[in-house]
Amino acid sequence: MSKKIVIMGAGESGTGTAILARKKGFEVFLTDNGKIKDKYRKELKKYDIPYEEGKHTESKILEADLVVKSPGIPETAPMIKKLRELGIHIISEIEFAGRYNKAKTICITGSNGKTTTTMLIYFMLQKAGYNVGLAGNVGRSFSLQVAEENFDWYVIELSSFQLDGMYDFKADIAILLNITTDHLDRYEYKMQNYIDSKFKIIQNQTDKEYFIYDKDDPIICKEIKKRKINSVCLPFAWEDPIGNGAGTEGENITINWNKNTFTMSIFDIAIQGKHNCYNSMAAGLSGMVLKIRNEKIRESLTDFRGVEHRLERFIKVHGIEFINDSKATNINATWYALESIHHPIVWIVGGKDKGNDYSELKDLVSEKVKAIVCLGLDNRKIIKAYKNVVPEIVETKSMKDAVRSAYYLAKDNDIVLLSPSCASFDLFENYEDRGRQFKEAVREL
Ligand code: ADP
Repeated sequence: MSKKIVIMGAGESGTGTAILARKKGFEVFLTDNGKIKDKYRKELKKYDIPYEEGKHTESKILEADLVVKSPGIPETAPMIKKLRELGIHIISEIEFAGRYNKAKTICITGSNGKTTTTMLIYFMLQKAGYNVGLAGNVGRSFSLQVAEENFDWYVIELSSFQLDGMYDFKADIAILLNITTDHLDRYEYKMQNYIDSKFKIIQNQTDKEYFIYDKDDPIICKEIKKRKINSVCLPFAWEDPIGNGAGTEGENITINWNKNTFTMSIFDIAIQGKHNCYNSMAAGLSGMVLKIRNEKIRESLTDFRGVEHRLERFIKVHGIEFINDSKATNINATWYALESIHHPIVWIVGGKDKGNDYSELKDLVSEKVKAIVCLGLDNRKIIKAYKNVVPEIVETKSMKDAVRSAYYLAKDNDIVLLSPSCASFDLFENYEDRGRQFKEAVREL
């Protein structure tokens, strides 16, 4: 008798899982308590996969032998609690696809920089002629590609939510970029739970697999001391590199691996800012491990233009440059944005606060920010934190008003930076919508 699999959530990953599961002979049922997008509904019909939307029919779900849940559904959801009580195994899409995947994997996690580093490594492997797929939070689902493609390598972006549902999966190269406070609402407000989730990136690794990590990150370093790690460890840091790993020497980044050395000026890296040097060191290290030629690594780092909404230098209007960093949804991402800019800043900030401690930015803000434009329904925390630090603070409730106010507050050679440090859901659909509205409003000036 075929095994019954229930897939909860019919987005990109859920639909991909359903297709892979059908191909592997499972009896599949897909359930989404929201509305399923047309694109996915068509796919499900094409493969004749039974589904429901706008509800979760308990009797059908509890019949499952295995459940694959979308990373968006929290542990606290009543149906998940019931499944757990009954001992029904719940896994994530990546875990499921991993069981059928034969390609090697480079997996990237961290609180910030995942998408940028994933795209950069994918770009590098393509340039080096690899038969490589891109999966995880970006592009097509891993499951769908495992079902339909024949890649030798995958570069996979993994959020902590995906990692939570992973057990047997093993990354060939695991990258942990950083760990800072984020998503604590999903981790019972316990930082250790979030850290444990991030460290699942190296689960099951042996001395044949690689672990690339940020040695400057105090949380990561503390955690490494507590754990027995079997992987080949390759640290990167802002200091002279010792042994295998990456570091900086003056104005260069240097990467050492197995008696090979790669060096490149920081100023030749296309994506600017200290955080992007870290991302580049992590990417370069994976390139070295794969024995990609130095010139290809260099070419990748000089040609990669970055990803939309991440410190995206947009346009100049009357000498004022506008930067779209809409993806900065936490304090740490904004810290790096402010750090990388060397002109007076008019800062557009605010949105749905996920527990920010604004004092962490106080020094940078007082040094670099000449005016703040709040853009959120509730801006009290921001105003309280900076009213004695920044001479001018205004409140706005729409992107048009925010951009116009920022434009009037800025002078020739200043920078207007949208780096909200917050989620976007109070006024926008998502961070992409926020970034697009920003660019539209700038174009209309
Ligand atoms: P993620 O996928 O982890 O959210 P992104 O690459 O989409 O990461 O970038 C999100 C935000 O974090 C952007 O504002 C970006 O400029 C910033 N960022 C990118 N890399 C890093 C890093 N290594 N450390 C801190 N912030 C970063």
